[in-house]
Amino acid sequence: MDYLPIFLNLHDQRCLVVGGGDVATRKAAMLMRAGAYVHVVAPDIDASLLERLASANGSFRIGTYSADDLDGAVLAVAATDDEAVNRQVSADCRARHLPVNVVDSPALCSFVFPSIVDRSPLIVAVSSAGKSPVLARLLRARLETTIPAAYGRLAAICGEFRGLAKKTLPDTNARRAFWERELQGAFAELVYAGREDEARTHLEKSFAATHPARVGEVYLVGAGPGDPDLLTFRALRLMQQADVVVHDRLVSQPILDLCRRDADFIYVGKARSHHTVPQEDINQLLVRLAGEGKRVCRLKGGDPFIFGRGGEEIEELAAAGIPFQVVPGITAASGCAAYAGIPLTHRDYAQSVRFVTGHLKEGSPELPWQELIHEHQTLVLYMGLTGLEHISRQLIAHGMAADMPVALVSQGTTPQQKVVVGTLADIAGKVAGSGIHAPTLTIVGRVVELRDKLNWFMPD
Ligand code: SAH
Repeated sequence: MDYLPIFLNLHDQRCLVVGGGDVATRKAAMLMRAGAYVHVVAPDIDASLLERLASANGSFRIGTYSADDLDGAVLAVAATDDEAVNRQVSADCRARHLPVNVVDSPALCSFVFPSIVDRSPLIVAVSSAGKSPVLARLLRARLETTIPAAYGRLAAICGEFRGLAKKTLPDTNARRAFWERELQGAFAELVYAGREDEARTHLEKSFAATHPARVGEVYLVGAGPGDPDLLTFRALRLMQQADVVVHDRLVSQPILDLCRRDADFIYVGKARSHHTVPQEDINQLLVRLAGEGKRVCRLKGGDPFIFGRGGEEIEELAAAGIPFQVVPGITAASGCAAYAGIPLTHRDYAQSVRFVTGHLKEGSPELPWQELIHEHQTLVLYMGLTGLEHISRQLIAHGMAADMPVALVSQGTTPQQKVVVGTLADIAGKVAGSGIHAPTLTIVGRVVELRDKLNWFMPD
């Protein structure tokens, strides 16, 4: 290890920054964020740096650096483009045993600034020991995307309970187990959802219970239309903490591969017209698993609240008093439209868009045809191939132009995506010979014509 990572408390400590340009401004800003009292010395100081100093109780001296500027400082940064000055600052600091950083000159530094992810009070610091600051920054960016924004709040609230935790759980192992459970369960979820008061109450109750009951919960998670890149950060986090994953046919394998490896996977897929697991049984399954104290991730294709029967599942959970949360996902209409180059609305062609399911409840009447006929409305039909011919015929019979453009997107957003474009009159025929696979989504409307213009980036 070339450097020891430590976290310095600089509150109200004097730090010297030598230099008055862009880089000096960034370093000074970082020191001020840490509560330091910053003093800047340079012959020229940027106006923006002067403003910052004024607003953070800092000070400055216009002039050339001299060793006296180090008086009272606990740390110094040299950020000038004058090599001789940089060397002098470094040498003076070493003589006084002060930590020193010289920008872009690792050899002159006794410490380096890491790339940081700031979720104060939680801070992650990444350093390449000056070997590749860009690599460190890229790693930082990856961490940034995987650490929930509310981690700082979470750490702060845990801090409030440290005293109580020590008192009620004097045994270190018991305390650790307690926090591990809460930080991956209901307490953390309440904080992420912004329900901090409830989170505190939950913790108080957990401390009060001598043998805290393991509370299970259900995450109803929208997994998007297929491409794993379209998952939300929250979806991914919950997929990685769940004990059990209950999924169906629409959830693609690459997405399942992102779930916690040692989770139990339960497939409750439904193939059209033979329902492997009836909905009522799925509802009961979720209630039972959560009742056993498990964290259950119910993974659904697209968005759980769009033709996903998510409403029915949480109704049952609510009735059983099981905590749950719903994570929205990118619905097939948005995903397929974007990946096929078809905007669902457009100022010139469609001022509204209507999502319709072709999977009707058995015994349901036909679709409300008349309502679907609007020149300036895009129709998105969530349905398989079987109804396509019937629907096209009905739309024409109820007054839609036979030359209305139609696009059928199969396995949208996945590497197997295929798009067949036609009109109401000929789409069924075109699709018949195309060897297309489920799932398929049908987009009807003038916006489909834009595909030729907007699809340049997606060859298929
Ligand atoms: N909750 C889901 C929809 C479930 S209904 C969502 O929000 O997307 C199931 C229908 O969604 C399928 O019959 C099909 O019409 C459509 N669908 C889902 N994923 C799809 C995909 N990747 N490509 C095309 N259609 C899809």
